[in-house]
Amino acid sequence: MDDKPVAVITGASRGIGRSIAIYLASEGYDIAAIARSVDSEGMQILAKEVLQKGAEFFPVGLDISCTNCQDEVVKNILGRYGRIDLLVNNAGIAPPQRDDFLGMTEDSYDRVMNINLKGPVFFAQKVAKEMIWLRQHSLKFRPVIIFITSVSSVLSSNRRAEYCISKAGLSMAATIFADGLADEDIRVFEIRPGIIQTDMTMKLKDHYDEIIKEGFVPQKRWGSPEDIGKAVASIARGDWDYSSGAVFEISGGLNIRKL
Ligand code: NAP
Repeated sequence: MDDKPVAVITGASRGIGRSIAIYLASEGYDIAAIARSVDSEGMQILAKEVLQKGAEFFPVGLDISCTNCQDEVVKNILGRYGRIDLLVNNAGIAPPQRDDFLGMTEDSYDRVMNINLKGPVFFAQKVAKEMIWLRQHSLKFRPVIIFITSVSSVLSSNRRAEYCISKAGLSMAATIFADGLADEDIRVFEIRPGIIQTDMTMKLKDHYDEIIKEGFVPQKRWGSPEDIGKAVASIARGDWDYSSGAVFEISGGLNIRKL
């Protein structure tokens, strides 16, 4: 096994995943970057940035909701590197249309749940099994899994119920994985971003600008993808070695309850 650690990041072509990939490349990880297409402009730009940090870049095409395609992807990454030290389950979508929860359609529910919940859970399961094997064969190997959930795990937005439900499920998945993998010394963390400036939120930029200005976010600014990338880098450095199962809410204070 090569000495260099390997990070697998889903949804790496843009936004939060892209920033995570760049921070991890700076931390000395080689990067296996997953998105639906390996040829997108986003992947090409990311490749340059990762290579500039002296890391290897391995672009991998996978629709995370295709659970039947996942084994092949894990096999390919292990075939190339022989190890996966860090998995960041980041890929996710907002519902294509915002509608009141009474108008939520089954198609939209299934699509969001398959991409945001079912796909990441079964991908993490497959990677976890490999990590267990690798860990049992090398005590130096100390794997980590991170789930990128959302403040929507705990905050209700009834115009995108399927998103909130998927993220609440993913939060529990993080807890289940942390519990089940603690004996194997595989540490699992949940990161809950708040309102982060990416393609996902740009469609509602004016709305978010307005509520941020009005003080909905106590720190009165948008979050940036770098706010999340830095947190992942801190976990990757081992700064939270005794905190498996921890939830990091990075939301400018949205978690503060006020009277
Ligand atoms: P984004 O800018 O829209 O990027 C989404 C990423 O996921 C892209 O790399 C996209 O790649 C990938 N992706 C989408 N569908 C996929 C699929 N079926 N299979 C594989 N990859 C897929 O979103 P973001 O804001 O960075 O969000 C990243 C994560 O953070 C999501 O899980 C989101 O729910 C969560 N989050 C975001 C915010 C926010 O305010 N932005 C807040 C809380 C949580 P391709 O399109 O190239 O495939």
